[in-house]
Amino acid sequence: MTDSPAPPLPLNALAASPLARRLPKVLLHEHLDGGLRVATLLELLQQRGIAPPAHSVAALQAWFDGNAHAGSLVKYLEGFALTVAAMASPDALERVAFEAAEDALADGAVLAEFRIAPLLFEPHGVAPDAAVQALLAGLARSALPSGLIVCAMRHLPVSETLRAAHLALRWQGRGVIAFDLAGGEFGHPPGEHAQALTLVREAGLPMTLHAGEADAAERVVEAVRLGARRIGHGVHLVDALGDPARRALVDEVIAAGVHLEVCPTSNVHTGAARSIATHPITALWRAGVSLSYHTDNRLMSCITHSSEAQALLDQTSLSADDLLAMAVQAARHSFLSTRARHDAEAAIRGAAGREGISLD
Ligand SMILES: [Zn+2]
Repeated sequence: MTDSPAPPLPLNALAASPLARRLPKVLLHEHLDGGLRVATLLELLQQRGIAPPAHSVAALQAWFDGNAHAGSLVKYLEGFALTVAAMASPDALERVAFEAAEDALADGAVLAEFRIAPLLFEPHGVAPDAAVQALLAGLARSALPSGLIVCAMRHLPVSETLRAAHLALRWQGRGVIAFDLAGGEFGHPPGEHAQALTLVREAGLPMTLHAGEADAAERVVEAVRLGARRIGHGVHLVDALGDPARRALVDEVIAAGVHLEVCPTSNVHTGAARSIATHPITALWRAGVSLSYHTDNRLMSCITHSSEAQALLDQTSLSADDLLAMAVQAARHSFLSTRARHDAEAAIRGAAGREGISLD
């Protein structure tokens, strides 16, 4: 906890109870260009001479909230053009990474992994290696144990994915802990980028791939077969649960020990799920799939990790016991060091003991 006054809560985060805030969090899936503080975004836009779509912190937050609830992926994605332009300097990248880690720490995180596509800043004049260096410096300035996942944008040609893979490998062991395929999934299955994924896998850098968010359960298994140890979202795996002809897909994911990074509110905002109450996270968890809950894009969805916990507690049958057990699973599947993973699990078990919850 910091001594500075708490920033105002995002619009969809007002309901987080003391219990939801107290639960230790393991943050595995958050995009740095989707998680800026609204006040920082406004300041960075003004510094760079970019006209913001709204001129006060409250109005800009309301603009993001409106886009999140517009039922339009295009509207939801509009915000990223703004954040990438605002972050396009080494100083801004360092600041945004530091603030993301500090926000996670203040929200109960005991371990965090952040992700971004560094090549996005190249057209704005920031070299990819300079972007990674600045982001890692920002993360290192926070006391929270954390690491960086390098994303490639899957709608771009394979040559670009390969450039992102080589970038990630240059920083392997120096703060970059994994590789990811992000961006519009539909029409761009992981196999399209098999060349880059093979390079990363053979170099021993772990992979978590977005799959089964906009596309089908088969894409989740495709990503697993290409070497992904974790899956971003994976929610469409639920479609195979009740279908005898496809149930083997779920069994394969469970048998492979693959972990799903589920982002409930983000899925509702992008149309991947109808509501929190009917979100596949509950059915997949009950079916024995290893998974945990994450924020994806705190700014675009106007949420916090604690408000995600609260939403699940309020609107699903999941209990604090379930959320703590998910956090243990998340810690075990983190790509950070063995020491960081063990420390995180010990912190979760300590908190569970204080809440009178047995995790065994
Ligand atoms: Zn994501």
